[in-house]
Amino acid sequence: MTQNAHMTQIQTAIAEVRLTILRAEEKYGRTANSVELLAVSKTKPIPMVQEAIKAGQLLFGENYVQEGVDKIAQLQQANCCWHFIGPLQSNKTKLVAENFDWMHTVSRTKIAQRLNEQRPEHLPPLQLCLQVNLDDEHSKSGITNINDLKAVADSIATLPNLKLRGLMSIPTHSNEFNTQRASFAKVREMFETLKSDYPELDTLSMGMSGDLDAAIAEGSTMIRVGTAIFGQRDKK
Ligand SMILES: *Cc1c(COP(=O)(O)O)cnc(C)c1O
Repeated sequence: MTQNAHMTQIQTAIAEVRLTILRAEEKYGRTANSVELLAVSKTKPIPMVQEAIKAGQLLFGENYVQEGVDKIAQLQQANCCWHFIGPLQSNKTKLVAENFDWMHTVSRTKIAQRLNEQRPEHLPPLQLCLQVNLDDEHSKSGITNINDLKAVADSIATLPNLKLRGLMSIPTHSNEFNTQRASFAKVREMFETLKSDYPELDTLSMGMSGDLDAAIAEGSTMIRVGTAIFGQRDKK
């Protein structure tokens, strides 16, 4: 038996993902520990999240508002940082503004304005990423060009209860490293362009279980990993 025999599957999986991140940082000339791990716990029950917390995991991503709000309420003692990463209808912004620390999928000024108005006074500003979509211009989710991106960023800069941190992207699925990398490179270029106006931006939220190496190669600072930590999800 190894000394890790007592570790649960989730704890082992987190250790493995952290090692994968470290190796990719080394391979692509990134500073060690410059890429944060967001554990995507959507559809997974609270005991599984608690196992991850035992492994020292503190950043969690949720896609469904009510499910996320329930977990946040039940895990209040744990000092976790909760990121909303799913699509958001404008009638659900209040729950995100009142409960989450970060929001990754803003692509319209109207949603940002609602989040700003609904963010409670006693909380720090909601940390924000703008979602970009550079692979599929016909898709509804995500900003597709630099002019729109700058316009939304400029209006967020006037909103005191929001703090823009960077960009988020979910590229079109591919199993091929070079294709994945080319998609992430486009996001990185747009990030660099936006940073010439907003040099304080520090977050590039990109990379999931199947493409995190390519994302780290292209400058990701936060990968969002579900399956590789918690296992397959049941199909909805
Ligand atoms: C589900 C989801 C993830 C995690 O995907 P895995 O392939 O399970 O790692 C990451 N980001 C977003 C936006 C998601 O919806």
